[in-house]
Amino acid sequence: MEFGKYVSFLNSELNVLKGVGEKKSALFAKLGINCVWDLLYFFPHDYEDRRKFYKIATCPVDEMCCIKVYPKGKLQKKNIRRNIALYSLSVADSSGVINVKWFSSPFYKISFNSDTEYVFYGKCVNAYGRREFEMKSYETAADSKSTGVILPVYHAVSGLSQSAIRSAVNEALCAVDVLIDALPESVIKKYKLMGIDESVRQMHHPSDDKSLSLARKRLVFEELFVLQLSLMFLRSRRDNDSGIVIKNTSCISDFAKKLPFELTDSQKNVVNEICSDMMSGKSMNRLLQGDVGSGKTVVAACAMYAVFKNGFQSAMMAPTEILANQHYNSLKSFFGKDVSVALLTSSTPNKKQVLSDIKNGLYDVVVGTHALIEGNVEFSNLALCITDEQHRFGVNQRARLFEKGQSPHVLVMSATPIPRTLSLILYGDLDVSVINTLPKGRQSIDTYCVDSTMRDRVYSFVRKHLDEGKQCYVVCPLVEKSDTIDAQSSTELVEELQKKILSSYRVGLLHGKMKPSEKDDVMSRFKNHELDLVVSTTVIEVGVDVPNATVIVIENAERFGLSQLHQLRGRVGRGEHKSHCVLITDAKNKETTERMEIMRLTNDGFKIAAKDLELRGCGEFFGTRQHGLPELKIANLFTDMEILKDAQKACEQVLSDDPMLEKNDISLIRARIQKIFADYDNFNIFN
Ligand code: ADP
Ligand code: MG
Repeated sequence: MEFGKYVSFLNSELNVLKGVGEKKSALFAKLGINCVWDLLYFFPHDYEDRRKFYKIATCPVDEMCCIKVYPKGKLQKKNIRRNIALYSLSVADSSGVINVKWFSSPFYKISFNSDTEYVFYGKCVNAYGRREFEMKSYETAADSKSTGVILPVYHAVSGLSQSAIRSAVNEALCAVDVLIDALPESVIKKYKLMGIDESVRQMHHPSDDKSLSLARKRLVFEELFVLQLSLMFLRSRRDNDSGIVIKNTSCISDFAKKLPFELTDSQKNVVNEICSDMMSGKSMNRLLQGDVGSGKTVVAACAMYAVFKNGFQSAMMAPTEILANQHYNSLKSFFGKDVSVALLTSSTPNKKQVLSDIKNGLYDVVVGTHALIEGNVEFSNLALCITDEQHRFGVNQRARLFEKGQSPHVLVMSATPIPRTLSLILYGDLDVSVINTLPKGRQSIDTYCVDSTMRDRVYSFVRKHLDEGKQCYVVCPLVEKSDTIDAQSSTELVEELQKKILSSYRVGLLHGKMKPSEKDDVMSRFKNHELDLVVSTTVIEVGVDVPNATVIVIENAERFGLSQLHQLRGRVGRGEHKSHCVLITDAKNKETTERMEIMRLTNDGFKIAAKDLELRGCGEFFGTRQHGLPELKIANLFTDMEILKDAQKACEQVLSDDPMLEKNDISLIRARIQKIFADYDNFNIFN
């Protein structure tokens, strides 16, 4: 196939393939497969090894295998239920005779020809002392396709069978003729990678384990290469940007003196790193990682203060209104009267006026939600963009905030603790700073795990703390009672607590379905200690800071992932008082027990993240776009670390030879990068 044709064929819709019409195309779309390329790169999640053949007499028990036989006697059928019949057939080879059994629909027309040789795939079992063969599939020996081979098993959707997927894939493999390598030849040679045509074919139809693992390695490499190259390209492009010079940063020490506490050494180090970035003449592009409660906000405030003193504006974006509000209030109290701070969310009153004041430079600092990156927001001289809880935002959203200024400095903050090596690679387009200690005087949080028979005692414990003037959170998985999910809901629990156990206390309710103004109201009453306790959903998961809260009770704790539990627990222990976290769950399975045990034993966010990755695998950990990057199809960021390092080295080489990625040998990769980022929220990275 000629090159241009090849490229357009890969991009064509699936109905160019024989046997795939509108209906099947729609089903494939459900699997995220929209073009021929998607289908070729839709790899099996498992394989069935159907290569083993045995003679009937020597067939081992309980091992999946094939037997090659002739039918003897008649096919027997016994109806079990309306839709299910048990079939049995006596078959023979030169070594002996065995009865084959299987379940199937009673409506199928099944017939066997005693002169024809068949291959049966299944396993031999012992049934009451007699050997039988439980059959999974069969075909005639003369034109066998699905036996004697390693058979791919794909993720399917209802209406689209394995065999339909297999034949579409085979059709594509056949039609494409030879796949053209997208990786530059020098890279393939240096890292001894299998060619792309062989790799893709091996993935679908492996000839043996070794070839399969080489094929997988090659494809993982390619995927990570594409990801890394795009991140490094973004970074290199930005390195060339000359940044706004923030000349005087010594003013920060005056600012720090006025704070109600002394900065920790860790915080001071990070502030210094930020200052030297902003003074350097290049634009800063830095990730600040610090466990929950480590004090990232005040570090951001220091940076914004310096920017203000040098006559520029700063913007800080948070993922929720609650958090934007909280930052607004803390910044105002940190800064006092010197700095004028605006709050910009979807519910900001007088928005027109606020927008025009921001544009005219009347505000020095603007705090807000996604509302900050909307088209109507303009700044007068934006020099610093900060994103809090950055894992909640995508690469493109960060980029859009950046575009509000003329190469402003960028600081992104996150408590989602990703192991350091991984974060360096994942956030390859960022420099990384870490706050690795908590402020002085913090006591470790004690965590307990109990079942629901202990609830009364848990709430007496809560009462004791409320009586001492402390506050408490109770977290439920659901907003409202659900017919399908058996778990505690916030609205029900509030009623229950107010009626009985906590009738003499001031209890508030907070969940995502409430209006922003209602949420604000509850949050600020809680912060001012006009409420003793809030029952909440995970809307308090990120960032919320009320140092007087010392107990958090998490109902149906089994419903939350480890990292999420750690984030929730981080709502307490933010002051000097001893704090407690109570996990309530009735789930007794091994995985839940293990998770609760980890929560009980450690407060270290990095350890917890590593464990979370291990337990859930990367798919889920990163699957929900936690990392703000396009999803990976085949690579596993945890177990494929070595390949990732090689891919990174290869990218460095390619970029140093071809900084703008303009050469011919990278054009297919370039197109792929463009497509991935375009699909992922309309972002043109080569723009
Ligand atoms: P996070 O890193 O989770 O965003 P915050 O910035 O919200 O943490 O800080 C948590 C709490 O610790 C806040 O109440 C903050 O005022 C307080 N804090 C921050 N730095 C210090 C410090 N050096 N000493 C004492 N308290 C501090
Ligand atoms: Mg925070």
